[in-house]
Amino acid sequence: MADSNSPSAPQTLIDGNVLAAKSFASCGVTHMFGVVGIPVTSLANRAVSLGIRFLAFHNEQSAGYAASAYGYLTGRPGLLLTVSGPGCVHGLAGLSNAMVNTWPMVMISGSCDQKDAGRGDFQELDQIEAVEPFSKFSVKAKDVKDIPNCVVQVLDRAVAGRPGGCYLDLPSDVLHQTVTESEAESLVTAALNSSESKPIANGSEVPTSEIERAVELLRKAERPLIVFGKGASYARTENELRKLIETTGVPFLPTPMGKGLLPDTHELAAGAARSLAIGKCDVALVVGARLNWLLHFGEPPKWSKDVKFILVDVCKDEIELRKPHLGLIGDAKKVLELINKEIKDDPFCLAKSHPWAEAISKKAKENVSRMEAQLAKDVVPFNFLTPMRIIRDAILGVGSPAPIVVSEGANTMDVGRAVLVQTEPRTRLDAGTWGTMGIGLGYCIAAAVAEPNRLVVAVEGDSGFGFSAMEVETLVRYQLPVVVIVFNNGGVYGGDRRSPEEITGPFKDDPAPTSFVPGAAYHIVIEAFGGKGYLVGTPDELKSALAESFSARKPTVINVTIDPYAGAESGRLQHKN
Ligand code: ADP
Repeated sequence: MADSNSPSAPQTLIDGNVLAAKSFASCGVTHMFGVVGIPVTSLANRAVSLGIRFLAFHNEQSAGYAASAYGYLTGRPGLLLTVSGPGCVHGLAGLSNAMVNTWPMVMISGSCDQKDAGRGDFQELDQIEAVEPFSKFSVKAKDVKDIPNCVVQVLDRAVAGRPGGCYLDLPSDVLHQTVTESEAESLVTAALNSSESKPIANGSEVPTSEIERAVELLRKAERPLIVFGKGASYARTENELRKLIETTGVPFLPTPMGKGLLPDTHELAAGAARSLAIGKCDVALVVGARLNWLLHFGEPPKWSKDVKFILVDVCKDEIELRKPHLGLIGDAKKVLELINKEIKDDPFCLAKSHPWAEAISKKAKENVSRMEAQLAKDVVPFNFLTPMRIIRDAILGVGSPAPIVVSEGANTMDVGRAVLVQTEPRTRLDAGTWGTMGIGLGYCIAAAVAEPNRLVVAVEGDSGFGFSAMEVETLVRYQLPVVVIVFNNGGVYGGDRRSPEEITGPFKDDPAPTSFVPGAAYHIVIEAFGGKGYLVGTPDELKSALAESFSARKPTVINVTIDPYAGAESGRLQHKN
């Protein structure tokens, strides 16, 4: 037998696909989402053989949404693999979603042969140019030897500073070039050694004087409030926030995806007194949440004009954009640690009898009991509240680890946000900063593989579900513990609400632009693939479907018939439509 170490022995050659898979595996990547095809099928297969779980989707859009949510849930970049040209364009949905939500993600697309670029090659596109508006950092491997370095760079950059999407372009010719196995090993080792060890600004640079100022502002405030968002969730600040809130007695308000960092049921939760809390607070410490549309830009009439904002954000540009009273740039976890340390030396606490704490608590209790009175009614045909209450109770009944709730759709998401109770961090995924519809099944798949101990429950409008409904086959194929509940009101916002004057012209007999086929049998779609489907229209039917599917933890669709006129057009954003 030839001695493989002897200089004359033939060396095993590996191609760019193998080298890319090896590079990702060496960086600790464990999951990849995508759609295979020319020229990346071999990359996916090689990744699997190296221990990376490849979740194969029907559409890059859903796979991209999955990658973005995976990045948020794990704090490690979610990976999307696509084919060239149209595959890359479909993937942009995910990349842009990652950028707008500030979640770490890497899109890897195959591209056409470099020598044929510009000559009308198969699925040709200047992909580096196409991803530009949505990518923090993009790189093309122009030679097989570039691959390990490019992989390390995109993974590092996706989590550095403000998280976001990065792009790696792998031309088909590069994927077919070869290097020897030993050369591959040294290239990967060298690339790993060049990796940046400080992925995020750690916050220890915040000057002590600014931490002291923040604490002084909170201490002297008459009506302080702590607001936190999905940046605080991403930064895993639950322990630091709890310590801060419970030692100071300051009421808190989570944004929709901040919900769960502290339980919604906490006695200092101001969610049910949101208007009072933001309208009257005089100092607001805002952690990992932008003062964008979701927080009414931090301006009157929703906020008082004199409110002093203390913003904590990893992104300097964000602080400069909002011009707060005080900006603390750094990782939220570290900054909160410094704030807690400063308070420890000279503690203060709002007593429960403090007028502000008392007013918030009183208002929250009033609003909760008003809502509970509505929720207590069993309305059939279903409105949005009755099934949402039943779902809330079923989810709470699961206990810990709490299910991850995925939610989209205008009325379904709005009502769900108010009614569903979050008790654990990072257990709510919704349409997010961009109001992205179509995230549902992708987010479910990401959540199921990122947090295998948790049940995943999607609460979706029928319109939201329709964007990615084919991915129910993906749920069944991987046997993921996902229960998708479809609020079926027969269309976008439900039934046809047009006035007679609007129903004119040669196509007046077409269904309204907001309408779908009435009574669509979504539960049968999953049965086509061997999953479980339920059609429900009464409280007892819904309770029984939830009990069975939550204990089975198998791919399920529960098709809930809702009164088509129960919701409102555009949900709670009517002024924008
Ligand atoms: P929400 O939608 O919950 O209001 P946003 O997405 O608007 O939250 O804001 C999240 C903010 O968190 C972004 O401005 C982002 O820069 C910031 N962020 C992300 N990671 C961190 C971190 N580790 N520490 C502090 N801020 C962070």
